[in-house]
Amino acid sequence: MPFPPPSPPGPPPMSTTITALDVHDVRFPTAAAGDGSDSVNRGDYSATYVELRTDGDALGAGLTFTNGRGNEITCAAVRALADHVVGRTMEEIDDEPVPFWRSLTADPQLRWLGPEKGVIHMAAGAIVNAVWDLRAKLAGVPLWRLLAEMPTPDLVRCIDFHHITDALTPDEATAILDKGAVGYADRRAELERDDFPSYTTSVGWLGYPDDKVRALARQAHAEGWRAMKMKVGGSIADDVRRARLIREEVGPDTLLMMDANQIWDVDEAIANMRLLMEFDPYWIEEPTHADDVLGHARIARAVAEMSGGRCRVATGEVAANRVIFKQLLQAEAIGVCQIDACRVAGVNEVLAEILMAAKFGVPVCPHAGGVGLCEYVQHLAIFDYLRVGTSLDGRMVEYVDHLHEHFTDPVRTRDGRYRLPEQPGYSVTMRPESIAEYRFPDGPAWRT
Ligand SMILES: [Mg+2]
Repeated sequence: MPFPPPSPPGPPPMSTTITALDVHDVRFPTAAAGDGSDSVNRGDYSATYVELRTDGDALGAGLTFTNGRGNEITCAAVRALADHVVGRTMEEIDDEPVPFWRSLTADPQLRWLGPEKGVIHMAAGAIVNAVWDLRAKLAGVPLWRLLAEMPTPDLVRCIDFHHITDALTPDEATAILDKGAVGYADRRAELERDDFPSYTTSVGWLGYPDDKVRALARQAHAEGWRAMKMKVGGSIADDVRRARLIREEVGPDTLLMMDANQIWDVDEAIANMRLLMEFDPYWIEEPTHADDVLGHARIARAVAEMSGGRCRVATGEVAANRVIFKQLLQAEAIGVCQIDACRVAGVNEVLAEILMAAKFGVPVCPHAGGVGLCEYVQHLAIFDYLRVGTSLDGRMVEYVDHLHEHFTDPVRTRDGRYRLPEQPGYSVTMRPESIAEYRFPDGPAWRT
C-alpha cells in the first residue's frame, strides 16, 4: 500500500478561524473514596477544560489535568494565553506550527512564569491540544491517524528542536519517521484486529484497604489484565505486605509495576527496592524527585544490578519539558519513558519526546489515569507504534477505570487492551451535562 494511504473522501478544506476560547474549571470529587490516592497525592481529579470556538461548526477541545485545588490557577493561565490563539486561522497555524507553539510557550512576558514548566506550560498544553483536536476533527480522522499518516516533513515541521539538537536533529527525526512509514498498513491492521496493550493502575491505590486491593487484583486478573501497577511509598512494611498480597492474587506471570510518586530520597529508594525485589517488580516509577536526573540514573543502575537487568526505572508524568526528557535519556536514567499528554505543551512537544525515546531505544509507556489522560494518550501510543517505535515490545498504555463516562468518545478496552479510537479528534470532548454538573464551585456536585 502506498504511504500515506489514500484519505477517505471528505469535504474540501475550508478556512477556519478560531473566534473564541472558553475555559471551564471542572472538578470531580474523587478524594473522598481514595481513588487516585498515592504516597503524596489525594486529589479531586480536575480538568482545566478548554473549548476553541470557530466560525464554522467545529469545536476544538483540550484539557490539562490537575489534582483539585489550584485548578483555578491553570484556568487563569489559559486566559492569559488566549490572545495567542483567538483570531488565528487553522491555515496560519498549519503553515507555521513552531512559531505558533512558541507564541504560547515563549511569550516574552509570560515566559518568566516558567519557562516551559509548571502552570503556564500546562495551560499552553491545554490550548495546543485543543488546536490538534480541532485539526483532527476538521480532517475527519482520529488524532492517531492524522499523525501516523502525516508526511514526514509535515511532522518534523511541528517540532521545536530548540535545546534538544544535541540529542535529536531534524535529520535524525526524518530518518526515524521515514523508516516508520514502512510496514505502516500491516501494523495498523494488526492494531485494528488485536487492540493496543495496556496495564491497569486501578488495583492498588494507597488509600485502599488490603481486602479491597486483593479483590481488585483478583478481578483485574480475571478480566484479562496481565500487567498491573501498585502504589508504594507508605511505610515499607505496608508496601511489602501489599506487594505480597497482589503477587499472591495475580501469580508470577503478571507484570507488577510499582509507583512511588517521588516520595523517596535516592538512597532510600535503593534500600526500599532491595526489600521489594522479591516480588519481581517490572519497573519502579518516580522513585525520587522528578527533577533529579542524576538520582534517577543512580537508582536505575542499582535496581538493574539487583534484578539482573529485569527491573527498570520509569518516569515522565511530571517531567516539565522535552529538555528534562533529553537528560533522562542521555543519562540512561530511564528504561521506560512515561510521556504525559498535557504536563508538557501538548502534541508538538510530545512528538519530540517520542522521537528522542526512539532514538535512545527506550519504549514509551504513556502516563494516564486522572481525568481524560487515558482518552488522550491512547492516540500518542498508537502513533508511536505505527510510525516511530514500530515494535510493541515493552509498550503499554496505563489504564485507570475512572471518569470515562464524562467524555463523548471515551476509551474502550477489551481483554486488558485499548481498542483503537474511531471518532475524529483527540477524544477529550466533555459531555456538556458533565461540565454543568461538576463546574467548580457553582456546579450542583459542589454546591452541596
Ligand atoms: Mg505515576
